[in-house]
Amino acid sequence: MKAERVDGSCLCGAVRFHVETPTLFCGHCHCSMCRRNHGAAFVTWFGVPNEQFEIDKGTDVLVRYASSAHGTRTFCGRCGSSLFCQNTEHPDHIDVVLANMHGAIDRPPQVHVHFDARADWVVVADDLPRLGGEHGTEPIPE
Ligand SMILES: [Zn+2]
Ligand SMILES: [Zn+2]
Repeated sequence: MKAERVDGSCLCGAVRFHVETPTLFCGHCHCSMCRRNHGAAFVTWFGVPNEQFEIDKGTDVLVRYASSAHGTRTFCGRCGSSLFCQNTEHPDHIDVVLANMHGAIDRPPQVHVHFDARADWVVVADDLPRLGGEHGTEPIPE
């Protein structure tokens, strides 16, 4: 499969970056940290290996926030767009917010994670797998 470049940016455009496909995964996260960080019902992330990710401009305005013992979230210090998440439990790849991309990546969202932590006012009507538990990626008991 041919690698394709997909560009992304924050809301104000101060931060520009790009990824190269193929990506590793794409899914909707319903955890409370993602919801509060974005002010949204859930957040759609995809992962790429570190070497397929590059920041093209705006490293000086990036702000990092350690949202857990393992996770660091990066946002634009000018406009507040949430951009990336890195986790010391899987240091070889970076999570990127799909909504900030200017074009399509190589896959649609495949899964709901932390679905058991979802906002009770959100209605999900798709047929994607719904996972949860401690890591957000385990089957949820009926
Ligand atoms: Zn910005
Ligand atoms: Zn999350």
